[in-house]
Parts: sequence; structure tokens; C-alpha cells
Amino acid sequence: MKTVFFYGGTDIRVEESSIPQPGPGEALVRVRAAGVCGSDLHNYRGNRPATSQVPWQQGHELAGEIAALGPRVSGLEIGQRVAVEAEHLLGCGNCRWCSQGQNQLCPNRSLINGEKHSSHGFSQYDVCVAENLHPIGDHISFAEAALLDCYACGVHAMNRSPVPDGETAAIIGAGAIAMTLGQILKASGSCRVVMIGTRPEPLQIAVASGAADETVCLADQNPVEATLALTGGEGAAVTFETVGGTSQLIAQAASMTRRGGSVSVLGLFTAPQEIDPALAMQRELTFRWSNSFSSWPAGPASVRNSEYVTALELMEAGKLQPRPLVTHEFGIGEIGEAFAAADSKSTSGAIRVMVIP
Ligand SMILES: [Zn+2]
Ligand SMILES: [Zn+2]
Repeated sequence: MKTVFFYGGTDIRVEESSIPQPGPGEALVRVRAAGVCGSDLHNYRGNRPATSQVPWQQGHELAGEIAALGPRVSGLEIGQRVAVEAEHLLGCGNCRWCSQGQNQLCPNRSLINGEKHSSHGFSQYDVCVAENLHPIGDHISFAEAALLDCYACGVHAMNRSPVPDGETAAIIGAGAIAMTLGQILKASGSCRVVMIGTRPEPLQIAVASGAADETVCLADQNPVEATLALTGGEGAAVTFETVGGTSQLIAQAASMTRRGGSVSVLGLFTAPQEIDPALAMQRELTFRWSNSFSSWPAGPASVRNSEYVTALELMEAGKLQPRPLVTHEFGIGEIGEAFAAADSKSTSGAIRVMVIP
């Protein structure tokens, strides 16, 4: 099979390797689509050293067909179309956080019986833990299903910082995380979403795909002034920051959030951030970070819903519009082009780039 190996930075190679065998509780998946995530680009851009040994594999937003089943797997069949929940979010199962269903906070995340797990979507086959496989309906394409990882991040951010019905949410950013979050907010409640982006084209897609009601384009508008103007001078009830990086976007988010409101941080920042404590005190703001997803309490104390499954149910019910967010598709032999398109979204116009291995 063909597999992509990452040697650091832009050194990405497609190599032949043997098809792995699923062990107990595992299944072999023929990967049919894998998204290039912003986190896949950190090392590519030289922002993060390789932590695993070189070369390594990646691709954690994937979907495909079950090609083989290992021993002790029930409820799945060969040939079934499945969305794959990323393996780096597997919890150890024993710690305080795992016992509360908060696998995303597990200090030994992705370590099962001492073995490190991760998903390898940029490969023709990947061995997956069977419990992370979720059958999908025929009306959902593999590329759409590969977006469920993003949608689940949106479900988690919404659960942590709910937007009151009838109120306004501001979203800083117009990438895949912003778009999927906007669609989740609109599909789950009755809030208004204002999306803030640098270029008009993605903002048009946001409105057309139901991710935003109104947009603010940085090319010709000040984001704080525009958001205040759209909310009668009050500011948004919740401002979601999805960009991260080095700019002072948490302070900007606070400035456009109303009294008693919340700032929800999904973006990964690589530079220290300053906030104005006097403003935060005056407005009694709540700041919450939102890291990936796992499960969330549903009614009775002991019941928790998988946030990935919540996203899948919304997609199955036709309440999300993933198709317009998949702007580019590349074969596995074009992995370099795929990463280049994902890396320079302003020239490629990419929202989510898919690799079709
Ligand atoms: Zn991702
Ligand atoms: Zn744990």
C-alpha cells in the first residue's frame, strides 16, 4: 500500500509499505478521505519540532471502508462505510479525567497498554480501534464524514460555552473550524452567528452553507466596531476565537463580548497573549479554552453523550452542510500539493483540503 511519511517540515514522501494486520479489538480500514488539519501544518511550517521518531505518519480526520476485522470485534462488518474517530484522543481509561469521560484531558492521552496510538489517514490503509469506528449512511460522502472531527470540536466548544437562544455568537476566523462551529451552533439552537474573516470568499461560503448569518470582512471593517454595531453596542454573548497564532486575538475577542459574556478559545496560540483585566472585571467575562472533544453530560448524572456521535447525528439528520467546506481533493501521490494548498489558503482559497488515498 501507499503511505505518506513525514520527515520534518516540507519533506513529505509517499512510500510503499505492507498492509498492517488488525489485532484484537481492531479493524483494518481502507481510507477513502483524510482532511489536512491546521494542526497537521504546524510541523510543516516549522512551528513545532517532530516529537515522535522520524519519519512519522499523520492524518487524524478520516473516513473509509472496513477491509478486515481483528479478533473480538462485534457489531461491525467488512465493507461497512465508517467515519473514524481520531486515535490520539483515546484515553488511558484509568485516570480522574477518563473516569469522568473527559478523555481529551487525560495526561496519558493516546497511550493504551503502554503503546502510543494515532490515526494515519494519509495512507491507503489504517488499523483502527474498533470502538472508534462509526458507520455512516450512504448519503454521507467519505470527505464529508472526514469533517466530523472538526464538527465534534464545534460541539465541544458549544457545550463548554453555550450561546443563549436568540443571542449573538461572534466567531473570529473563517476556516474549517470556524465554519463547522458556526453550522453546529445554528443547527443546535436559535442564535445568530457573526463570522469575522480576512477575505470575502470564505465568508460568502459561510453564509451559503449556514455557518453564519452575518459576516465582517477585515479588508474593510474593524472587527470590534462592526460586531458592536451588529449587537446594538452590547457585543456578542459568546465570542469564539478559532485562529490562534501570534496576534492578540484573545484581547480582541474580549473587546467584542458583552457584559456577562464568554470568550471561548479554540485557536492554538504560539505567542503570549495579553488581556485587559479591567475590561474583563467590568464586563465580568468568562474565558474558557476548548480542546478537541470527548463526551458531555446528557441529562441523568451518569449519562454522557459522545460529542463525535452528536456531530454525526446532526450530519445524518441533514442539519449540517459539509459539502461546500471541502474545497480541494488530491490523490495520495499529490500530498505535497495538498499540503501546499492547505498552507496558503489565501492563494488557494482552501477551506478544507482532502487527500483521497
Ligand atoms: Zn484536526
Ligand atoms: Zn486517562
